[in-house]
Amino acid sequence: HPEKWCRGFNHFISQCLIKDFEKRPSVTHLLEHPFIKQVHGKDMSLQKQLAELIQEQQQLGSMARTRHERIHTRRAYHVDRADKYSLDDDLVNLEVLNEDTIIHQLQKRYADLQIYTYVGDILIALNPFQNLSIYSPQFSKLYHGVKRSSNPPHIFASADAAYQSMVTFSKDQCIIISGESGAGKTESAHLIVQHLTFLGKANNRTLREKILQVNPLVEAFGNACTAINDNSSRFGKYLEMMFTPTGAVMGAKISEYLLEKSRVIKQAVGEKNFHIFYYIYAGLYHQKKLSEYRLPDQKPPRYIDNETGRVMHDIVTKDSYGRQFEAIQHCFRIIGFTDEEVYSVYRILTGILNTGNIEFAAISSQHQTDKSEVPNPEALDNAAALLSIGSEELQEALTSHCVVTRGETIIRTNTVDKAADVRDAMSKALYGRLFSWIVNRINTLLQPDKNICGMNVGILDIFGFENFARNSFEQLCINIANEQIQFYFNQHIFALEQMEYQSEGIDATTVEYEDNRPLLDMFLQKPMGLLSLLDEESRFPQATDLTLVDKFEDNLRCKYFWRPKGVELSFGIQHYAGKVLYDASAFLEKNRDTLPADVVVVLRTSENKLLQQLFSSPLTKTGMFCSYSLMDLLSKMVVGQPHFIRCIKPNDDREALMFSHERVLLQLRYTGILETVKIRQKGYSHRILFEEFVKRYYYLAFKAHETPLGSRENCLAILEKSKLDNWILGKTKVFLKYYHIEQLNLFLREV
Ligand code: ATP
Ligand code: MG
Repeated sequence: HPEKWCRGFNHFISQCLIKDFEKRPSVTHLLEHPFIKQVHGKDMSLQKQLAELIQEQQQLGSMARTRHERIHTRRAYHVDRADKYSLDDDLVNLEVLNEDTIIHQLQKRYADLQIYTYVGDILIALNPFQNLSIYSPQFSKLYHGVKRSSNPPHIFASADAAYQSMVTFSKDQCIIISGESGAGKTESAHLIVQHLTFLGKANNRTLREKILQVNPLVEAFGNACTAINDNSSRFGKYLEMMFTPTGAVMGAKISEYLLEKSRVIKQAVGEKNFHIFYYIYAGLYHQKKLSEYRLPDQKPPRYIDNETGRVMHDIVTKDSYGRQFEAIQHCFRIIGFTDEEVYSVYRILTGILNTGNIEFAAISSQHQTDKSEVPNPEALDNAAALLSIGSEELQEALTSHCVVTRGETIIRTNTVDKAADVRDAMSKALYGRLFSWIVNRINTLLQPDKNICGMNVGILDIFGFENFARNSFEQLCINIANEQIQFYFNQHIFALEQMEYQSEGIDATTVEYEDNRPLLDMFLQKPMGLLSLLDEESRFPQATDLTLVDKFEDNLRCKYFWRPKGVELSFGIQHYAGKVLYDASAFLEKNRDTLPADVVVVLRTSENKLLQQLFSSPLTKTGMFCSYSLMDLLSKMVVGQPHFIRCIKPNDDREALMFSHERVLLQLRYTGILETVKIRQKGYSHRILFEEFVKRYYYLAFKAHETPLGSRENCLAILEKSKLDNWILGKTKVFLKYYHIEQLNLFLREV
């Protein structure tokens, strides 16, 4: 049938075209291909394809300005040259394997701005501290569905691998990004989302746009400038991108974890509050709307004026905050928040800023020494107006509290300090609940159609390991979370791997690694782990931070915990990533995180529907212990196939091209990269059940109509036919190296 024949012929030509294109350095060579010469001029679609390729190559050519791009494009297009696949790309290829050779290789690559390097299927990403133009749509195309070795290592290749694995095996995937603060996790997460949206071409353009706005929106509320990183994540984020069975993106969902709420009320020297407060203040300043939100235009509210004068100067002289505010308004709109919702969010944010300005003074009368009043009632009125609650009721809730004794309700007054604590607790609760509401709302707006049973790729980006001059409760929570991620990594790379070899009767050399399990037990064990002890002590009204540290000292008798002499409230922990000294001041208060019922009652009377809703749920605690544990999240991820990205910070000065040997070595050591290289050199990253293997690859050795059994023999037949080497057959599974999968898939495509 001529039409059918025509389709077949076109298909054949396209195949030739693509194959040939991979081998030849430029499109002009393609035009000389005998097949193409024959049909060129007669076949419109072929002409069009060639024209597109020429255009693309020209674009890439003109883009290849920097040294880095030259390397990328040269390697990608001069594919028949020897340097197409560089052995340097993967540390597993190192013949001499030790810390020196690894660091030397990374340093050499970094000097070439080759920031990405593989360790088998794991990607190492060095922070370039400069913008590289290797993330454009052209690069997304370049890394789409090709052999990994066709191109230099890239974060898009890792995203692509996760996506292909999801589509091929119909299995959920998770990408775990780790590294210390400022190493580049959040940037990497953005790039992965960018590439996945490209791959999962949503039929519906708006959905794609919505998904791309999720990160900027939640990060405006959850990130802040710290001493280490100007855009530091102050919460953990797990973003799941959902796809249809054919791989089209259909929705997204975020889970947030442990927002650092204390930042709302106080920031360390040199640090700032959450970005959104500056954005909104500047936005309203430039729109001349400050008075509408009852904010002063001379001096910013106390909560955001940590470094007196600096913030106002930035807001007046630079427009970047104002532009960010517009960007956030745009995000809200694109994702689908209603104007009314956004307005309520602004009222709550500015309500928090006004709340921070409420002051307290002691009323000194003969009988009542512990009573306080508000000397600046205008601040109280402003806060109450923005939160749509009664000003007197608010004052009552801040300066007094009800106690129920023997069935009777007694009203007690609050001291100045207590009143200030209640005010700050209210601000923290408002912000924390607002943040959770935004996340939930996004999830509702990006929810896929319930009738489609899809798959997902989850991306975990949490706050990185921190060690400041002064480390408090927040750093402890952050570092425990990182400890758990490291444990998860170890489990997958070392422990499970070795267990599986044993159970499959395979004699694989074991690799020693630093197991942080004992340390994790010290934190998480019940009832004597650090977090349990903390919870227990928080329940005693008489307990103090000092009794807490004493309790730690009495019960945590292991080498990971110590108490320095001379500093009462201090204790040290030997984390996997280094020693950290903590200051236990306010640990109990922060852990209790209580909000007096009187405040809740007032907030529930708000005429702002959103605010009312934030406080309508009962005030049950989720259990403090659980909330510090990432285990829930990790167990959710365990069902998916993990992909690891290890971000490394090449220097502490945020300088481009500066490679601190010492700093990198430290990170390589504590993340166990050397051991990872060893196990990846010897190990098998893919294990597939016989049945699954035969189902998937039987074409390679059997006829299309045959239905061979999922037996060991049939696996052997397939493997032998495909002429791969270095694989192993276990008792129930085929053990393959990561590159085998690539080769098998390639053969499959050819068949
Ligand atoms: P934290 O744990 O504090 O959240 P993080 O690991 O998420 O830190 P990022 O915020 O991703 O760190 O990165 C810090 C900064 O490094 C970015 O703001 C950016 O300036 C730079 N950076 C990171 N990755 C890249 C990249 N691929 N290209 C250009 N700049 C980058
Ligand atoms: Mg981050």
